[in-house]
Amino acid sequence: MGSQPWCVVGLDNGGTTNNATVLDASGRFLVDGMVESPSAVREGPEAALTALGATFARVLELTGVDRSTVLGVGLDTPGPASADGVLSAKGATNFVNPAWAGFDIRTALEDLIGLPVVYSNDANAAAVYAHHVHFGADALDRSSVSAIIGTGLGGGVVEAGRVITGGNGMAGELGHIRLPLDGVLEPDQPIPVCNCGRAGDVESIASLTAIGRGLLPYWLTRFPAHPLAAEPVQEAAKLLRSYAERDDPLALAVFEQQAKALGRLFTIAADFTDPHAYFVGGGVVEARPSFRDWLLSRVRDHTELREEQAATAIFSLVPDLDMAGARGSAIAARDSLRAADLPPVTP
Ligand SMILES: [Zn+2]
Repeated sequence: MGSQPWCVVGLDNGGTTNNATVLDASGRFLVDGMVESPSAVREGPEAALTALGATFARVLELTGVDRSTVLGVGLDTPGPASADGVLSAKGATNFVNPAWAGFDIRTALEDLIGLPVVYSNDANAAAVYAHHVHFGADALDRSSVSAIIGTGLGGGVVEAGRVITGGNGMAGELGHIRLPLDGVLEPDQPIPVCNCGRAGDVESIASLTAIGRGLLPYWLTRFPAHPLAAEPVQEAAKLLRSYAERDDPLALAVFEQQAKALGRLFTIAADFTDPHAYFVGGGVVEARPSFRDWLLSRVRDHTELREEQAATAIFSLVPDLDMAGARGSAIAARDSLRAADLPPVTP
């Protein structure tokens, strides 16, 4: 491309909406807020690809970017999927239409728009974004681990600025690592089982699903007069954060358990990749700062680091929750398509 201006587009494909951004050659995002449009994912691949094509065209129009300057596209979707963007044959949470099983969404989008498409799963994209925003000019010399608490527990392991995908695209599936549970669960608390079938993995404790399925029902036996006992448990699970923001003892007990689980996970990470930074993301990022900071400090307290590690380890939040997918997949695409001479990203 020589000195010609160039950019990459980031497309975040969600269960109900797409979001988009453009990252230019100077490391600047040309979109400040959200560029949202319906994703049509429930209608199946054909409708969803048409919707992605429309989102792509719309973000170019909004930013005034000439299509001929677009090097390629970063695409992220919820997993599970292969490193090349082939959705799991067993189905994925957001892709309930049976036509999605084993669908190669990366190649299909590439064929549709005629540009290279680089695929990331949504947690990996958020991990890449958190890493680059935090480290800026030093991003390519740093490592990090991200845990993103949502319906499940997503993760991403970043080394030298690039996410580790592994041989089958399954690296960084941090939610399904089994934890030593002594000191995490109460003595009379049943061992929770994850959707994946494993007992006592990270997601079986540190996810919204875990709260509704096991943690909240257990803690309600300790606080039987709690107002949430009167709500359907899935509703109560969603309301729990608002109670924690008001220092409700039941809610804090549940989130303390989640902090313990994340601390155990990060303790494993410390021995595995010894990262410079540990990032926590998900809905908690949008919580009231006092609760958000409390949770992060509890995670830190429950992470056992060696003295040298403790002196320098960074614990921080994944920023800009809603935009992290589109922005992170744009960075991943840029770094894949143009590996050399990259300026730092300006958040
Ligand atoms: Zn699991």
